Amino acid sequence: MFDKVLIANRGEIALRIMRACRELGIKTVAVHSTADENAMHVRLADESVCIGPPAARDSYLNIPSLLAACEITGADAVHPGYGFLAENARFAEILADHNIVFIGPSAEHIRIMGDKIEAKRTAVRLGLPVVPGSDGAIRDAGEAKRVAKEIGFPVLIKAAAGGGGRGMKVARSEADLEQALHTAQSEAKAAFGDDAVYLEKYLDKPRHIEIQVLGDGQGGAIHLGERDCSLQRRHQKLWEEALSPALNASQREEIGEKVATAIADLGYSGAGTIEFLYENGEFFFIEMNTRLQVEHPVTEAITGIDIVQEQLRIASGARLGVTQKDVTFAGHAIECRINAENPLTFTPSPGRIESVHVPGGLGVRVDSGIYAGYTVPPYYDSLIAKLIVTGKTRNECLMRLRRALSEYVIEGVETTIPLFIDLLKEDGIIDGNYDIHWLEKYLERRKQA
Ligand code: ADP
Repeated sequence: MFDKVLIANRGEIALRIMRACRELGIKTVAVHSTADENAMHVRLADESVCIGPPAARDSYLNIPSLLAACEITGADAVHPGYGFLAENARFAEILADHNIVFIGPSAEHIRIMGDKIEAKRTAVRLGLPVVPGSDGAIRDAGEAKRVAKEIGFPVLIKAAAGGGGRGMKVARSEADLEQALHTAQSEAKAAFGDDAVYLEKYLDKPRHIEIQVLGDGQGGAIHLGERDCSLQRRHQKLWEEALSPALNASQREEIGEKVATAIADLGYSGAGTIEFLYENGEFFFIEMNTRLQVEHPVTEAITGIDIVQEQLRIASGARLGVTQKDVTFAGHAIECRINAENPLTFTPSPGRIESVHVPGGLGVRVDSGIYAGYTVPPYYDSLIAKLIVTGKTRNECLMRLRRALSEYVIEGVETTIPLFIDLLKEDGIIDGNYDIHWLEKYLERRKQA
């Protein structure tokens, strides 16, 4: 096992990783920008190193600074968390060149899955069902028209290098197609420096269901069931649950087995998530994330498996300690993303936190780095806390979530807490009967009222 791990991240996820390290007796190094000097992850780590000014490209994305921090502190491995450099194949290679372990999959697997066209081809090769669409990149409007006619409108144009819901455009009819293609290409070029786009069938009312996997790259691969992340606004997840209210045990077993086999065939090493859209009983692969995800705690809550500790074990060369038979699902868990933003417009609300009261009690977990007197900087993602609630049944979980949200006080910045309190009054939420468009439609209704 590692002696010292450097955590190339900030906020709640840096704390989450630190906790896993500490339980395993591993020393931790925090890195931070000048804007994060007083952040909790810096206070809790064994050591910390300032790696640059506030802008992420000068600090959390600054590879030379991170390497220097590893060298100064003698860290033997780096955990990238999510976002920042977590899916940067080059970073993984550079670390390897310096004999530092990247806690994540191989650079090759990051690269394949980072190119969505390549990822989709790989999924097909591994026997996973995919959304019908173009074979590879779409070169011009003529080709887009031909493919769109074949699969039928509406279609979605997506950036090959896409992420975070950016570079996606829907075309409802042939008349929209050319415009949508050009917009998607120029958005993709601006956001990712790559204008390659592909086309797929736009599903009208799917759910977003993703399967958590662990592979050891030595033939061992298991799945930890699914998470339902259908509640999104602007393609960004806000509420996640495990297991999905839409699947039964045999559907779960069937897709889980398919995915675990695919991961074993790929020789994948580390934690990962295979994302699907699910409509009318069918699964369609959309992408694979080769990293720890924000919503991983709901899976931990129902399986009792510490996913970060598994990542650490796998990266240190160990084989999987659990077999598929060992994985059982107990109860139901829901995560709410508490963002420092206006709960209806989602305008960021950085600033000083005047007071915090965190909910507790049976079945309540809060992952967060905020405290009274802490200033949420304007430079980074607005996620400031995750509330994860577990119950024996989904109904118990909903009741507990209602109770926990009513206890939660964060003063000084606006948060998404009031939105979750309102959502718990909605039939769609109570019945678990929602698709990926449900939240946008709900917000639209609120705006009209
Ligand atoms: P990103 O990497 O930008 O997050 P994804 O491919 O994971 O992109 O898609 C993000 C979200 O966009 C999905 O969760 C879903 O809500 C929506 N989406 C993606 N593909 C489709 C599709 N073919 N039809 C309808 N919605 C889609």
